Amino acid sequence: MNYISTRGAAPVLGFEAAMMTGLARDGGLYVPETVPELSPPEIAALAGLPYEEAAYRVMAPFIGDTFGEAEFRSLIDAAYAGFGHPARAPLKQLGPNHSLLELFHGPTLAFKDFAMQLIGQMFQAALTRSGERITIVGATSGDTGSAAIEAFRGLANVDVFILYPHGRVSEVQRRQMTTARENNVHALAVDGDFDTCQGLLKDMFNDFTFRDEVRLAGVNSINWARVLAQVVYYFTAAVSLGAPHRKVSFTVPTGNFGDIFAGHVARAMGLGIDKLVVATNQNDILHRALSTGAYMTEAVQPSISPSMDIQVSSNFERALFDAYGRDGPVVAAQMDELKATGGFTISQGALQSLREGFASGRVSEADTSATITRIAEETGEVLCPHSAVGVAVAEQHLTDTPMVTLATAHPAKFPDAVEAATGLRPPLPSRMADLYERPERVTRAPGDLAAVEEIIRERTAV
Ligand SMILES: *Cc1c(COP(=O)(O)O)cnc(C)c1O
Repeated sequence: MNYISTRGAAPVLGFEAAMMTGLARDGGLYVPETVPELSPPEIAALAGLPYEEAAYRVMAPFIGDTFGEAEFRSLIDAAYAGFGHPARAPLKQLGPNHSLLELFHGPTLAFKDFAMQLIGQMFQAALTRSGERITIVGATSGDTGSAAIEAFRGLANVDVFILYPHGRVSEVQRRQMTTARENNVHALAVDGDFDTCQGLLKDMFNDFTFRDEVRLAGVNSINWARVLAQVVYYFTAAVSLGAPHRKVSFTVPTGNFGDIFAGHVARAMGLGIDKLVVATNQNDILHRALSTGAYMTEAVQPSISPSMDIQVSSNFERALFDAYGRDGPVVAAQMDELKATGGFTISQGALQSLREGFASGRVSEADTSATITRIAEETGEVLCPHSAVGVAVAEQHLTDTPMVTLATAHPAKFPDAVEAATGLRPPLPSRMADLYERPERVTRAPGDLAAVEEIIRERTAV
């Protein structure tokens, strides 16, 4: 299985190298050269299987010979053993034709754990084999960082640095990042917003001297292995609602377009997905781009769903690559224009192709909050603000086809917003009840490439 860059000018890599590399050397993102398909009988056979078995069957065609069958199975088992629900990704019914896919039963209470726990296992296995040491740097709007720290803390061959926007993450998110005791974990509070952090990360990857010096690896959703792990739950949810005999639609609270892109991959593999609906908060660049064809960045407006406060949505590049018939140079030109001018215009043909694949909607802060209130009253289900954005948009797209909304975080991760909407403060699960007592350890950093690189050099020097 070969992986190629969305900008068409980086080396073609196998699965292991693509996973360890993260961003391609031409600035693009790796995607599979061809997407393996599952036949309808193979999809039907996933029904009723344990999550881990379904995960093995969906992901195995993508990993080539990186891991043997027994080894890959044991990595998957280890990845999901710490989840607080035996189904891993349980479905709950919200209404006659609308279900919620709860993706927040992992160790840090957000869907990011599905991918991060698995790549933690996969990185460890690959590094143990090669004897190499790497430096993982991640940018986070809150949830990626805590999930990465949880997955990599204490591992022997890895240092992990997490860049988060100072003052712009929830207290639970911050504490999950700053209270790890292991010396290989470094939380950096950066002056700026998430796009500042993600921009620093991309610039580090493009600084080849630094990249090679510290052996930089990335675990943001630019990393193909993350997207792959998220493909699995589209299959498990769809088969429990009748796939492959019946189509299913999904609504996905979206920021960096990673989670919804995994749905696009599931569809390319042969899963009968009708609509994939992009749900955004007031930072609605993706909704505007799909509505008008103009992808124009604006200033980030902090919201009550902070993990979606993003203007530069990196995985959208993967969708554009497919919409442009996999023309790398065209994608590279559009991304250069984005960097130079803050925006670009999608061609008519590519826009039409995107609209065939994706619908979209945007939710205001007031409607997000009202949705949390109403769903709690009607169903007893307490939504986090991101999941509420998803539910509100999904309700605008209900048809005869079953709709699944992805619930991306546990309400206790965003207690202020949930308390404001429902009057009740959602308690943390007992396994993390002492979070507020643990000492914090964090380094404040300016939003400046040279300064952040210097911090990383100092901490990784042997
Ligand atoms: C990361 C995150 C999102 C957005 O996911 P993308 O893959 O970046 O689109 C939505 N909700 C929560 C809770 C998240 O942590």
